[in-house]
Amino acid sequence: MMYQAAADRYGSMPYPHCGRSGLRLSAVSLGLWHNFGGNDDFDRQRWIVRTAFDNGVTCFDLANNYGPPPGSAEENFGRLLARDLKPYRDEMVVCTKAGYTMWPGPYGDWGSRKYLVASLDQSLKRMGLDYVDIFYHHRPDPNTPLEETMAALDTIVRSGRALYAGISNYDGERTAAAAAELRRLGTPFVIHQMRYNMLVRQPETDLLPVLEREGIGGIAFSPLAQGLLTDRYLGGALPPDSRAAGSVGFLKPEHITPERLATIAALNEIARTGGRTLAQLALAWVRRQPSIASVLIGASKPQQVLDAVKAVQMAPLAGDEIAAVEAILGG
Ligand code: NDP
Repeated sequence: MMYQAAADRYGSMPYPHCGRSGLRLSAVSLGLWHNFGGNDDFDRQRWIVRTAFDNGVTCFDLANNYGPPPGSAEENFGRLLARDLKPYRDEMVVCTKAGYTMWPGPYGDWGSRKYLVASLDQSLKRMGLDYVDIFYHHRPDPNTPLEETMAALDTIVRSGRALYAGISNYDGERTAAAAAELRRLGTPFVIHQMRYNMLVRQPETDLLPVLEREGIGGIAFSPLAQGLLTDRYLGGALPPDSRAAGSVGFLKPEHITPERLATIAALNEIARTGGRTLAQLALAWVRRQPSIASVLIGASKPQQVLDAVKAVQMAPLAGDEIAAVEAILGG
């Protein structure tokens, strides 16, 4: 049967402006880094994406290399668009990136104009789209002039391949330089995608002040520290279907140390006292930053998406909750 999106999908999701731009993002975005590759169950992918869209998530995050194999997440998303979501294309913000290794040789990596334009053309083909809403440079390239990379983003937007430009994993200083260059070119640079969560706080001092000053929106990836800041590992055992137990990715069993488990258990107590799940506490904590427009979660189950959606419908963290978290994190 043809998919029909839920009629009440816009009922309760906040849509903050992305920085000082006109673009509004769903406060929860869904990333397809994990669980959307060639070997992952397609029906489950479909169920996760439908659940997200039915509950107000409009922003979907991809990259050329997501899989495995690289490219397969975009292919799967293309299939989901073709089967379910194409009629809703104008209700969606589809994002992709290039910057990590994608194909062999000197033109399939980093930040040259040659790589970025060709990569986006490949991404569009895989997804069956004419344009993406946001195209990001995925990581800074120390060996390509910033001016070249930014000019490539400008070309990409002016050619109609993307509506907005973004960068990811740039530090504060480089972000300020990129913003100056893109302002000079007149490119709509609206978003920065950074790792930010209760266990990774560097952006607070380095990057977020730059975003606020420049009026650029922030979208925080791995806000749940890949699942560490959820009930997944609370009991101390490794659930067999968890990311840490899997063979793909960077979260390994050795990252789940006794010290970390103690921190997570203490945070969970604060969450429970406030009537939240640990994941909901972690998301509310990231969202307390005024420059963060959206939290970019991953999900292996539809229920995880619903947990995040509920998080952004709850009251923001109160001052005493923030103080209690800070006391545990040593902030
Ligand atoms: P998260 O920190 O949200 O981790 C997602 C994982 O946490 C899920 O796969 C699941 O793990 C677990 N989880 C999520 N919600 C819950 C819940 N409510 N209860 C229990 N467990 C939960 O984000 P990701 O690390 O997946 O990153 C999100 C997205 O960010 C990526 O898909 C990608 O789009 C983007 N990203 C960008 C990067 C960049 O360089 N720009 C780098 C990394 C990510 P489990 O599988 O164990 O169930």
